[in-house]
Formats: sequence, structure tokens, C-alpha cells
Amino acid sequence: MPIKIALINAGSIILKLFKVQNQLENSEKKRSMESKFSFLINLLVLQCLAVVCVSQDFDFFYFVQQWPGSYCDSAKSSCCYPTTGKPAVDFGIHGLWPNYNDGSYPQNCDSGNPFDESKISDLIGNMRKNWPTLACPSGSGETFWSHEWEKHGTCSESVFDQHNYFETTLGLKQQTKLLQALKTAGINPDGSTYSLENIKDAIKEGTGHTPWIECNRDSSGNSQLYQVYLCLDNSGSILIECPVFPRGGKCGPEIEFPSF
Ligand code: 5GP
Ligand code: 5GP
Repeated sequence: MPIKIALINAGSIILKLFKVQNQLENSEKKRSMESKFSFLINLLVLQCLAVVCVSQDFDFFYFVQQWPGSYCDSAKSSCCYPTTGKPAVDFGIHGLWPNYNDGSYPQNCDSGNPFDESKISDLIGNMRKNWPTLACPSGSGETFWSHEWEKHGTCSESVFDQHNYFETTLGLKQQTKLLQALKTAGINPDGSTYSLENIKDAIKEGTGHTPWIECNRDSSGNSQLYQVYLCLDNSGSILIECPVFPRGGKCGPEIEFPSF
């Protein structure tokens, strides 16, 4: 990781400078050298601080889940079931996205670390069930997972390797149990219309955190529940309140929850 390498390099240079400085302890040139060394050391310390301050990786993650019924009946996109069959009637994972507090985000951070399915072979069954692809043409999921790792996952390499990235995201799906939270509040994917506030309250009650709801439109133009955003701290360990919500995808006060 670049920050760590920069700090280690700077640290070892500082140590070397101190050693050389000790060796010169008894020399006549000590005085003038001392001032040069202290100038160099100050410069290096300032550089270290600049690296730490300026190149912060990211501030938090969005954990995004999609309602398959709304992906599939949307006016914009067609949908194709995965080659492994129709997914369960449940929210599916879209991704885990590093983000900055100002709403911008890094992407495609490391072309040298492409998606490698062999690194997550133990997770494939779980991935197919909980992170199914609905894009056309039908696929088994690799294209979607590869896109998510390469666009977003590679920007979280300071926290996750590929296995951790997917394992953590799968764990968040189990932890948040969105459909259960909604059903408990009497909100079911039956094509009815529900108040956006009730949907948010139900998810807050179930997960402990305020979600951002993104809507899309069905072919008749009705606003419907499409994606749910929750936030994770930048060490990838706990859900937090979102520092900022995404732009766009706004819902009306009443939205449809289509069946799947
Ligand atoms: P859309 O334009 O459909 O909202 O988003 C397209 C894609 O851009 C998303 O699937 C995601 O990869 C990326 N994206 C959109 N908004 C955000 C955001 O707020 N944070 C991050 N990290 N990625 C985003
Ligand atoms: P984003 O950049 O929006 O995170 O990534 C979405 C990309 O993944 C698009 O290229 C989309 O075609 C592909 N994709 C594959 N399967 C799915 C799916 O089930 N849902 C969404 N939203 N995108 C998918």
C-alpha cells in the first residue's frame, strides 16, 4: 500500500540519517552538519505528514442492495435471470463502494489486481445465492462480480483483499436482513404502495441505521423501491450512519414495492 511504503521508506531514511549523525559526533564539522541534518529531518517529517494527510484512501463504504423485482420491471433496463436459475425472492447485493465524505468516490484503483474467481472459490455458492446478476445476457455472475471488484473493490485494498471484500459484503447481507425488516413492519413485495417514511423506519428499526432509498420507475412510470444504501466505516467493520447520501434516484413520498 503506497502510504505504508512511503512511511516505511521515510522512517528508514530518518534512522539512517540519525546513525550517520552519531558517527559524526566527534568531528569538527559537527556544528554545520547538525543544522543541515536537522533541516533534512524536519523536511522528511513534513513530507510524511503530507502523505498521510493528502492521500487518504476513502472515508466510508456504501453497502448497496437491489430489489430484483424493480430491476426487472424497470422501464430502462431489461433483465435476464442468471444461468444458474431465477434468484430467490430477496434483496440481492449490488456492491460495497468506497466513498468520500464530499459525495465523490474513487474508482478502478488497481488494474494490476484483476478479479480472480479462484481466490473466492469457497464463496461461490453463497455469491450465486446472495449476489446474483440480473443483467442481459444471462451470466453466472463472474462479469458482475469482476466489475464490482475492479471498479470499487480495488479502491479498498488498504482494508480488504479479494476474499475479504466479498466475504465481508456477503456477511453484511446476512446482518442487515432487509426483507425481514420490511415484512416485520407489514411491508411486503406485493405490488402495493407504501410510504417512503414507513419503509425507512422499518429498515432503521431492523438494522439500527438510517438507509438511503433509491427509486426507479416501472414501465407505467410508477416510482418504486429499487436500491437500499447503508454505510460502513472505512475500516470495513461496523455499520454507521451515512455521512452523506447519494445524489439522484429520488423517490416520491409513496412508492411501490413490486413482486419478483
Ligand atoms: P447510477 O448512475 O446508475 O446511479 O450509478 C452507476 C454506477 O456508478 C453505480 O452502480 C456505481 O458503480 C457508481 N456510483 C453511483 N453513485 C455512487 C456513489 O455515490 N458512490 C460510489 N462509490 N459509486 C457510485
Ligand atoms: P455499477 O457500475 O453500476 O456498479 O455496475 C453495474 C454494472 O454491472 C453494469 O455494467 C451492469 O450491466 C452490470 N450488472 C450485472 N448484473 C447486474 C445486476 O444485477 N444489477 C446491476 N445494477 N448491475 C448489474
